[in-house]
Amino acid sequence: MSQKASTTDKTIRISETPGLYIHVPFCKTKCPYCDFYSVTDLSIKDAWLHALQIEMDLYRYDFGTFETLYIGGGTPTVLSDDDLGNLFDALHARFTFSADAEITIEANPDDITKDRLIFLRSLGANRLSVGVQSFEEDELRFLKRRHAAAGAERALSLVTEAGFTNFGIDLMYGLPGQTDERWLKTLRKALAFEPTHLSCYELTLEETTVLGKMKMAGQFASLAEEEGQRFFLLTSRFLQEHGFVHYEISNFARGDEYCSRHNRKYWRHAPYLGLGPGAHSFQDGVRWWSYRSVEQYCTALEGDLKPVGGSETLSSEQLRLERLFLGLRTREGVTMHDAFGEFSSEPLLSQIKKSGLVTTRDNRIVPTVKGFLVADRLPLMFPG
Ligand code: SF4
Repeated sequence: MSQKASTTDKTIRISETPGLYIHVPFCKTKCPYCDFYSVTDLSIKDAWLHALQIEMDLYRYDFGTFETLYIGGGTPTVLSDDDLGNLFDALHARFTFSADAEITIEANPDDITKDRLIFLRSLGANRLSVGVQSFEEDELRFLKRRHAAAGAERALSLVTEAGFTNFGIDLMYGLPGQTDERWLKTLRKALAFEPTHLSCYELTLEETTVLGKMKMAGQFASLAEEEGQRFFLLTSRFLQEHGFVHYEISNFARGDEYCSRHNRKYWRHAPYLGLGPGAHSFQDGVRWWSYRSVEQYCTALEGDLKPVGGSETLSSEQLRLERLFLGLRTREGVTMHDAFGEFSSEPLLSQIKKSGLVTTRDNRIVPTVKGFLVADRLPLMFPG
C-alpha cells in the first residue's frame, strides 16, 4: 500500500545561508595519490591572486551574507603572510560574513609555526584543518608528504597554544603494509592532540594520479574491497568509542557543534560560491565550475569574464536524486520525500530497514555504519 508522503514531515532545519570556498591552486610538491587541482609553479601566484580579486568583483552582489568561509586547495599555507593578509582584506572588502561565521583554513604541518598560527587567528580563521595523513615515517615517505612524523607532532602541539580550539586532522588508511595496529597507533597519536574533528580517508587511486598509473601498470596493488571495509569499520568503532560522532562516511566530530558547517552546505544543497580554478558553485538549482587550468582561469578574468568552464541546471527530480545520494552519505540521512518521491511505501521501507543498512530517526531515513559501507549503492534501494 502506498500513501502520499506527508508534507509536514519533521525535518532537520536546513540552513540556506551561503558558504564561500576559495581554491588556492598551489602546492610545494605534488603528492602521488592526489587528484585535487594544484600546480607547483608558484611564479603565477601573483597573477592568480589578482585574477581572484577580479572574480570576487564579478560575484560580489550575487550571494548574501556568508555563514562559512573555507580556504582550501592545494595548500593555502604555501601563501606568505602578506598574500594571506591581502586575500582576507580582499574578501572583507567585497563580501559580508555572519558574526559567528565558521572560517576554516587548510594547513600543511610543514608550514605551521606558532607565529603563523597566531597570524591566521588574527585574520579571523577559527577552524584549522591539518593534513597529516600518518604518523609513521615509512607511510609518509610512501605518500611523498613534505613533512616527517615529528614535524606533524610539533605542528599539532602548537595549534591549541595558538588559540585554535576547533581543529581537524586528516588521516589516511589502506596504505601498503599498514596493519590494524599501526593504523590504531596513528589514530591514538592523533587523539592525543585532542582534535575536534577527524577525516579518515581510504587511499583511493584515480587513474590520473601517479599511484593510479602505477596501479594500472601492475606496479602497485590497492587494498581489496573487504580489507578497506575492515579498516572502515575499525575506524568507526574506535572513534565512536572515543566520543566522536561518525557524521559522514569519512568524517568524525567530537560533537554536533564540531561537524563541518561548510561541508554540510554541499550535502544539503545550500547555496555556495566557489572561487579559484576548478572551484564549483551552486545556487537556485544551477551548478557551475571554473576552468581547472590556472592559466585559462587568469586569462578569462583578465578580460573581465567569469571563468566558467561548465554548468548544469538540475530539475527538481534531479535535485531530489542528488539529495538522496548525498544525504545517504551522512548521518542526517534524507526525508521520506527525497527517498520515495511523491509516494512513500511503508512495506518497502520495512523491507529496506530489514537489510540493516538504514534506519529511521525523526521521520528521516538515515544510514547505519554498515550502510555507509555501501553508500553508493544505497540510493538504488529506493524507487525511481
Ligand atoms: S599537499 Fe594536498 S593538495 Fe597538495 S598535492 Fe598533496 S594532497 Fe594534494
